[in-house]
Amino acid sequence: MSRFWSPVVHTLTPYVPGEQPRERVIKLNTNENPYPPAPGVGKVLREYSTNRLRLYPDPESRALREALAKYYNVAVKQVFVGNGSDEVLAMAFQAFFCQDEPLMMPAITYSFYPVYCQLYEIKYQTVPLKENWQVPLDAFDPRCGGIVFANPNAPTGHGHQRDAIDAFLKRVDQCVVLIDEAYVDFGGESVIPLTTQYPNLLVTGTFSKSRSLAGLRLGFAIGSRELIEGLERVKNSFNSYPIDSLASAAGIAALEDQLHFESCRAKVITTRERIRASLEILGFEVMPSQTNFLLARHPGYDAAFLFTGLRERGVLVRYFNTESLYDFLRISIGTDAEMESFIEALESILH
Ligand code: PMP
Repeated sequence: MSRFWSPVVHTLTPYVPGEQPRERVIKLNTNENPYPPAPGVGKVLREYSTNRLRLYPDPESRALREALAKYYNVAVKQVFVGNGSDEVLAMAFQAFFCQDEPLMMPAITYSFYPVYCQLYEIKYQTVPLKENWQVPLDAFDPRCGGIVFANPNAPTGHGHQRDAIDAFLKRVDQCVVLIDEAYVDFGGESVIPLTTQYPNLLVTGTFSKSRSLAGLRLGFAIGSRELIEGLERVKNSFNSYPIDSLASAAGIAALEDQLHFESCRAKVITTRERIRASLEILGFEVMPSQTNFLLARHPGYDAAFLFTGLRERGVLVRYFNTESLYDFLRISIGTDAEMESFIEALESILH
């Protein structure tokens, strides 16, 4: 508490990110990609002229936006970029969700959304997930102040197919629907092609997961010109230049290497399914996942105990012990060798 803080700052419950360990551990706690970014990213970094860093970056991030527009087959004016999708999400919350009616979101979803609501004083209402842990598209009220969810959802891992979202958008056309596709490349189906059809649909994406560039902070949004203009108004109010030039050049190189992208995501998906089977053999209930993580619980052991045991053995995961998500471990998919060590560590705790 401080007498210098604005009233809203007193009410904030900051988001608690996964731990950044100092010692050498197997880090399976923040859904990073275990494989390096595309080789072209290294080349860009090695050959980048430091003299270019004297200059401010392009305020319109034209080159990166063009590369994204080409990749996703949309117009450049439909693309917005920011420093990580967290920043893009923050701007979207400011631009679209400060409404009289509450924003709606699933009761279990990315835990940053309520943090933004607090920060920007946005009223929100949650809807419980279905019994099978899916986001209940039919429970959202089309007259609310906006809708946000991750697809595939986090930390549950299930994603709706494009057809289901298409049907949902036919019903919900009066408010902005923000779909966060941070994990979509690991087996989900992107709804970016629907943005040309639905002016109220905004899709966010990130370079942090499937492109292995979490350290650079690159995120984007794709939507109608109307929505992108809303985001630009918020961005320009900060009078800041968006993406730094080096990150932009590296991001473009990552987008250009489709082969590397396909190979890394295929490896992650194969490892994920192998680890699912191993966890099930150990007695875990494991959620279906279209992401680079697994959510699992064991009927005989509490998650905090397993988390601590794993940590003592040098493996860092996350655990959830909230009312709505009780006793679950969330395990990011690492390399095969890392996952082998994880399973060995679990076995030694369980036996
Ligand atoms: N959305 C979801 C669902 C996430 O899990 C994350 C990463 N924790 C983000 C967005 C933000 O990713 P970034 O800011 O690295 O793009």
